Parts: sequence; C-alpha cells; structure tokens
Amino acid sequence: MSHEPSRQPQSHCVSCGYEAATGGDDWEFVESPSLGRMTSCPECGSTNVTLRR
Ligand SMILES: [Zn+2]
Repeated sequence: MSHEPSRQPQSHCVSCGYEAATGGDDWEFVESPSLGRMTSCPECGSTNVTLRR
C-alpha cells in the first residue's frame, strides 16, 4: 500500500457526483440545530456528502 500524504482528502456528493477537497472552500456549510455543521454541495444543495478515500 502506498500513501500520498500530500494529496488532499476528497469529499463526494452522492446526489450529483461533485467532488472537492474535504472541508475546503469549494463546499458550502450549513448549521443544523440538531446535527451541527454539515457539508452542503454547492452544485445541488444536497447534504448527502461522503468522504472519498
Ligand atoms: Zn451535489
């Protein structure tokens, strides 16, 4: 197994397939009273965003 430590972890929108660096400025963030800060897709607005490894 080879690791690439310089590579940013990516997040992936399940709804539309958008990808960007995890926690990066490309994502939008919404505050939920019950769930806290959630990542929101700037393309489709979905919060169904998963970490991609
Ligand atoms: Zn999306």
